Amino acid sequence: MTLLIIGSIAYDTVETKSGLSKDSLGGSATYCSLSASFFSPVRIVGVVGSDFKKNDHDLLQINEIDTTGLEVADGDTFRWHGRYDPDDFNKRDTLDTRLNVFAKFNPILSDRNRTSKFLFLGNIDPTLQLNVLEQMENSPTLVGLDTMNYWIDTEKRSLEKVVRKIDVLFMDAFEIREFTQQNTIYDAAEYVHDMGPSIVVIKKGEHGVVLSHEGNLFAMPAFPTRNVVDPTGAGDSFGGGFMGYLSSVDTIDAKSVRQAAGFASVMGSIAVENFSVRKLIEIDRNEINSRFDQLYKLTIFNPDIR
Ligand code: AMP
Repeated sequence: MTLLIIGSIAYDTVETKSGLSKDSLGGSATYCSLSASFFSPVRIVGVVGSDFKKNDHDLLQINEIDTTGLEVADGDTFRWHGRYDPDDFNKRDTLDTRLNVFAKFNPILSDRNRTSKFLFLGNIDPTLQLNVLEQMENSPTLVGLDTMNYWIDTEKRSLEKVVRKIDVLFMDAFEIREFTQQNTIYDAAEYVHDMGPSIVVIKKGEHGVVLSHEGNLFAMPAFPTRNVVDPTGAGDSFGGGFMGYLSSVDTIDAKSVRQAAGFASVMGSIAVENFSVRKLIEIDRNEINSRFDQLYKLTIFNPDIR
């Protein structure tokens, strides 16, 4: 199945202890799409400014991402500037967010995009996420949504409205507690299930994810990489891998959802091993499968008690 992805397409400036990356290709939809494209056909919906480089457009297409839903508007491409704590990659400050062309973006989905069976509403203004969701025809098989503290703080009402209409919610452990006002991630997951989503994925950075589905909890560690250069996009690449894998198998059950979490964890680990999308575009499916096998060996144990 084809996966339709909406989200930000950005030029990011990122500071980590490994160095500075200025105005490099980033954005939630970019990371999601590149990651998902290893598993299933992807179509991207979003907007870039007139400063968007041809090379970057080509890069999406080389990776077989359908960019016909990518609008080029007058103005500048979305900009984000983040700085990571040199002693703790889990801590980052957003120094600047400029919506630029996203401020006036009003996506109109093509007839083909409206009938997509799998939809990923990547991190962007929840009003835009809702706008896209409402244009879908013949309710999609699976709709995922990712967001961040910026939108919980500034657009909580709209976010709640769209969360009520989706199937899979991705949030990190801090965000979901803030969003639901619950003390534990487990109560927060229940709260979200009561709102509508049947799958809740709680991201815990280098500690992996906890997934709640059909009354069961499941934990997936992050793939243990020692080569963390820039954590930006890990969550988006995780989401892209998760949704891309489910879209490829076109089955949503306990088995496929857990496998999707495994591939998603692998994709997150790949994204962090270089600045921008550099590592994501040099990897191949063999390396992804090999990391998936290693992750399996890391988590399996014999349940027989002596
Ligand atoms: P992550 O590290 O997974 O949270 O994703 C970081 C990516 O999200 C960067 O490439 C940014 O361009 C993008 N981003 C940052 N802030 C926002 C925002 N408020 N809305 C949409 N995308 C954002």
